[in-house]
Amino acid sequence: MARIVDLLAAGRTISFEFFPPKDNEEQRLLTRTIADLQPLRPSFVSVTYRGGRISRERTTRVVVDLLRTTDLTPMPHLTCVAHPRFELGEIIGGFRAAGLENLLALGGDPLPEEESYKELEYASQLVELGRRLGFESIGVAAHPAGHPRSPDLVSDRRYLAAKMTLADFAITQFFFKVEEYQRLRDEMAALGMNKPIIAGIMPITSLTSVQRMAQLSGYAVPDDIVRLVEAGGDDRDEIRKRGIAVATQLCRDLLDAGVPGLHFYTLNFSKATREIYTDLGLER
Ligand code: FAD
Repeated sequence: MARIVDLLAAGRTISFEFFPPKDNEEQRLLTRTIADLQPLRPSFVSVTYRGGRISRERTTRVVVDLLRTTDLTPMPHLTCVAHPRFELGEIIGGFRAAGLENLLALGGDPLPEEESYKELEYASQLVELGRRLGFESIGVAAHPAGHPRSPDLVSDRRYLAAKMTLADFAITQFFFKVEEYQRLRDEMAALGMNKPIIAGIMPITSLTSVQRMAQLSGYAVPDDIVRLVEAGGDDRDEIRKRGIAVATQLCRDLLDAGVPGLHFYTLNFSKATREIYTDLGLER
């Protein structure tokens, strides 16, 4: 186990994100994916959190299992949604008691009405709670194109800088151009915020599903990237090849720009991440 804040201080990190499985079939896929990705020796791995009792059980089970049965450094995500403050405190306390040292604190998105309860409004309040309960390595989300609920980019950047003052590092929503990352980093620096911002990477293996995910996070895949991938026509292998080439080039540009870390949204698959890893020559 290691603290991500220390890993970032020591050099560039590479990390993978998973979601907790809902059934045995998804569990088998995750187990296989983790086995495939472990030899790449990621700096850390993270596990998403939806909100509510079932999500609490599933995310806790995966991170604790990873902690006990692998030599990976797992980080649970946690959102403000669907838990009163005392319950969030219980969950964070449980993570600490299990031996977890890192936490990704998030605002979360609204769930169906019966679960949409929120006592803490913003991720920054969850960071404060995590700190009070002993976490010394806490990450937050950053949105290069701004968050869809923000009235404008200026206020979004201001709230992000304030949130990062409380936290140790940020991980971005996915994006496709190095300029989007550089703009975010420069605007944070202009606000006096120079803590590490890890870049979130989503390899395109299906254009429609990535566009749908992008839309949900208030982001539009740039037109030239859409055109380049669409030129693969109906050939799924060609689309995949083009999507992976786009992600590989983005990683290369980000590494050249001095990014402190690359965080791969794996969607619980290993192949695209492994291909990018090999193309970049990142094996350690
Ligand atoms: P916040 O930081 O709370 O910000 C939300 C909005 O409020 C923004 O518009 C912000 O500008 C504004 N704001 C912040 N502070 C204030 C303030 N004090 N006053 C007024 N406005 C304010 N979602 C999940 O459900 N589960 C996950 O596991 C998950 N993992 C993620 C991992 C990463 C790396 C990223 C980038 C996102 C992830 N998300 C996840 C999505 C995230 O929960 C959503 O984007 C959510 O809508 C906002 O989360 P946040 O932490 O950015 O929220």
